[in-house]
Amino acid sequence: MAGALLEAARFDAARERKIDRTATRLIEAIRKSDDRLGGVEDMLREFALTTKEGLALMVLAEALLRVPDAPTADQFIEDKLGEGDFIHHETKSSAFLVNASAWALGVSARVIQPGETPQGTIGRLAKRLGAPAVRAATRQAMRLMGSHFVLGETIESALARAQSRAPTGNRYSFDMLGEGARTAADAERYFNAYQSAIAAIGRTVDGCPLPDRPGISVKLSALHPRFEAISHARVMNELLPKLIELARSAKNFDLNFTVDAEEADRLELSLDVIAAAFADPSLGGWDGFGLAIQAYQKRAADVIDYIDALARTLDRRMMVRLVKGAYWDTEIKRAQERGLDGYPVFTRKAMTDLNYIACVRKLLALRPRIFPQFATHNALTVATVLELAGEAGFEFQRLHGMGEALYEQLSEDRPRLAYRTYAPVGSHRDLLAYLVRRLLENGANSSFVALAADDAVPVASLLRRPADIIGSGEKAAHPNIPLPRDLFLPQRKNSRGIEFGDRRALGKLVAAVAAETRPVAATPLIDGVAASGTERQLFSPIDTTRAVGSVVEASPAQADAAIAAAGSAFWRWSMTAAETRAAALEKAAHLLESRAARFIALLQSEGGKTLDDALSEVREATDFCRYYAAQGRKLFDEGEAMPGPTGESNALYLRGRGVFVAISPWNFPLAIFLGQVTAALMAGNSVVAKPAEQTPLIAFEAIKLLHEAGVPTSVLHLVPGDGTIGAALVAHPQVAGVVFTGSTEVAQSINRTLAAKAGPIVPLIAETGGINAMIADATALPEQVADDVVTSAFRSAGQRCSALRLLFVQDDVADRMIEMIAGAARELKIGDPRDVATHIGPVIDREAKARLDQHIARMKKEARVHFAGTAPAGNYVAPHIFELASAGELTEEVFGPVLHVVRYSAERLDRVLRSIGNTGYGLTLGIHSRIDDMIEAVIEHLEVGNVYVNRNMIGAVVGVQPFGGHGLSGTGPKAGGPHYLARFATEQTVTINTAAAGGNAALLSGEE
Ligand SMILES: Cc1cc2nc3c(=O)[nH]c(=O)nc-3n(C[C@H](O)[C@H](O)[C@H](O)COP(=O)(O)OP(=O)(O)OC[C@H]3O[C@@H](n4cnc5c(N)ncnc54)[C@H](O)[C@@H]3O)c2cc1C
Repeated sequence: MAGALLEAARFDAARERKIDRTATRLIEAIRKSDDRLGGVEDMLREFALTTKEGLALMVLAEALLRVPDAPTADQFIEDKLGEGDFIHHETKSSAFLVNASAWALGVSARVIQPGETPQGTIGRLAKRLGAPAVRAATRQAMRLMGSHFVLGETIESALARAQSRAPTGNRYSFDMLGEGARTAADAERYFNAYQSAIAAIGRTVDGCPLPDRPGISVKLSALHPRFEAISHARVMNELLPKLIELARSAKNFDLNFTVDAEEADRLELSLDVIAAAFADPSLGGWDGFGLAIQAYQKRAADVIDYIDALARTLDRRMMVRLVKGAYWDTEIKRAQERGLDGYPVFTRKAMTDLNYIACVRKLLALRPRIFPQFATHNALTVATVLELAGEAGFEFQRLHGMGEALYEQLSEDRPRLAYRTYAPVGSHRDLLAYLVRRLLENGANSSFVALAADDAVPVASLLRRPADIIGSGEKAAHPNIPLPRDLFLPQRKNSRGIEFGDRRALGKLVAAVAAETRPVAATPLIDGVAASGTERQLFSPIDTTRAVGSVVEASPAQADAAIAAAGSAFWRWSMTAAETRAAALEKAAHLLESRAARFIALLQSEGGKTLDDALSEVREATDFCRYYAAQGRKLFDEGEAMPGPTGESNALYLRGRGVFVAISPWNFPLAIFLGQVTAALMAGNSVVAKPAEQTPLIAFEAIKLLHEAGVPTSVLHLVPGDGTIGAALVAHPQVAGVVFTGSTEVAQSINRTLAAKAGPIVPLIAETGGINAMIADATALPEQVADDVVTSAFRSAGQRCSALRLLFVQDDVADRMIEMIAGAARELKIGDPRDVATHIGPVIDREAKARLDQHIARMKKEARVHFAGTAPAGNYVAPHIFELASAGELTEEVFGPVLHVVRYSAERLDRVLRSIGNTGYGLTLGIHSRIDDMIEAVIEHLEVGNVYVNRNMIGAVVGVQPFGGHGLSGTGPKAGGPHYLARFATEQTVTINTAAAGGNAALLSGEE
């Protein structure tokens, strides 16, 4: 692809010179302008993102206006001002905006003395000016910033402002600000805002024909609370009619109606919605419907073809805004997290530029069926477009508050040219999140805007053609951005995942999983031989009448036999080269990936998992195999040389302990099961594994897979059974170690059994539960909190040890946040997890459901109910949200989709910390805040194993977030962490007196 783009990118010398001339003139205009490039650019120059002040300002801007209470606002301001050196900041630009904010911050900050701690700052500020004055000044500065980038707080004021400043040829596309909808009420509110905006815009239009008419830009994610690939049917049923209704209104006024482009995983879904809306007969005869296409996406040219074919088939015209794309960093992160084979976007900026121009050519060739709209602030891109397009038959677009000098110059030089301004409308509170995204996007040092603002960057370097920067096709990928699968190289491969927004990949996976219907007949496996006994049928939690296989549970005699067999095989395995053991684990990882569909099918039928959960679990199991293989090579291969006197060699070796018993839970029947077993094996132990009685089938298949991968059958044995068999294994005198994941009570009983045994003291590695908390303060973004709370509390039906149980919300914002969380919970689909649209599957069995139902019934009486979902018949438990008067009311881990909320007052955060500490658990903790001091204080105060800041608190990744807690939550060390394997091993030092025979020859022959 890169080769073709490079080939097509060249112009002849005369045209290249023309492009240079035009671009140079525009860059010079930008650099001459007092206001430089416009507001954002001035901000960037003054407070570069690479400086502490820049970052502090950005965070302050993003959150301050949403903080309702004075103490939190003061603490937040203090926190951010304390981070930067605002006093010594000298304003370089005369721009009003920068002066205003620097002034406001300067006034505030001037009273901060050098060397003073942030904690001391607010006191001094308050003394000199009074805290309210500081707060008011800072808020005012933020508002000023906002007013520069928002055209109006209401559509009416935006329209008035647009009319007053619109020279001929300056068109507008209005954008209603806000985060995407999380609740049905949000979606309704956005829909109404779009409707009334269209009506208001429509009332002001004059008689010019399209494209010389104003327009509106809509975000599909604002119109539906679950605008995601897996909710395709819902989106087509619920969102599509709304989009058509809005488009009809726009058609009534003959406006330009553009659907914004969002994240890559939503592209196919967006195109389905757009195509269906566009084809609606009621929109015939109107040329204003359009969409945005992102050139940073590798699929951009295909999208253009698709749109063209659509317009051709329907014999209609479309408007297409070509942008480079606003979510680049998010796309890279998401692809890495999901372990994709490649990135959906280019990884070098010049490739995006190259593709942009290729798309420009394509769009121009499709005129007049397509009306191209080129959105960019890059002078070189603009100059190249002009060279290709001439001056008519298209328009440029820019964002309000940006690219002003460039487009002013352009209008002066070429008055016939049309350009449209994308104008955000909304409250300053909503604007600031948008602004910060723009600052990030344009503040990056790859961005044209940032480079153009920097006088130190020579004009010639801004004129370098993307094709010259890339050079050849092999250099199309960024050298420092590894492919998602190579993220952890050279240590190990990242496990493979797929993008659910990629319909072909999803369809293939779903079909492969559906084909895996073979039932499993699990038995004990001793020396690889199936032991006989009484069969028990296993029924699926999805449908309790459907048998999914059978299990023969081990008798006590068989358990003994397994331990004896493991004992005999231990020494040989322990002496096997670490490399051989590691190679077996790597082979297992490979087999797991190639048989992902088989395991996913089992995780669904036996474990009741959704597709997303099941895939994540296969990935986690795969990562465990590779991670422990890599760690094992490092730790067990050769001894670690120790320093010492001459004439002696000293080395420390790790070796296996003996027979390890691994007892695992049903909630991660593959990942935790294999994690325990592979760690014990890698450390040179032989293993007797006892899976949870609910999930022996997956365990049986996993053990067979390890045998196939090269783990000798004599070394690894499977003993299915209930707690009594587990207890018998633990009590066996030959056991050298136990690794257990499950409830705190069982861990304690194992501990007592081990302690009561005569003989060597046997180590226990236990991983237990938690009453996991999250704290959300007033600076947090409610939409982000809602997403993360819903994921943390309800994903996997709350059946994760890491799941959120207790949410503390600052009382000043609690009503709004709880309402949004409840609204978001209402949108989750609960039911058969084999349907890809399902978010919440069943709980594991009838007993689990009965326990949860009982808790819910009690809470309904004792607590305030914020949300009570409804569940289908069977083992399903709907999400519930209860508000407690105090955290102490929750005394035990409730292992299901039940969230407990407690309000707290900002001044009494200490009480919150105390009540979290008082639970005695310490597994996971979530914090949502923009106040670094607060985050640090919480982390310092609470001894919790895994802390997650401003994100969800589940889904720890092997080797990235080693997992495990303290106190009642477990013994450590953390699974998937660097200290885990050593705990399964014994240590041995070997000292050799190398001078014993014949003296210290090495020392004697050493030269000076
Ligand atoms: C009117 C208007 C409407 C817009 N609507 C949308 C929309 O609907 N959806 C949307 O996503 N964006 C939208 N944008 C935002 C737009 O994507 C960015 O403003 C634009 O990418 C900046 O491009 P530029 O040519 O001005 O700047 P440049 O500095 O030339 O380009 C910056 C862009 O390059 C890309 N980039 C940066 N680093 C890399 C890298 N390492 N590898 C590959 N690519 C990289 C990114 O796309 C980045 O935004 C809109 C912009 C305008 C002006």
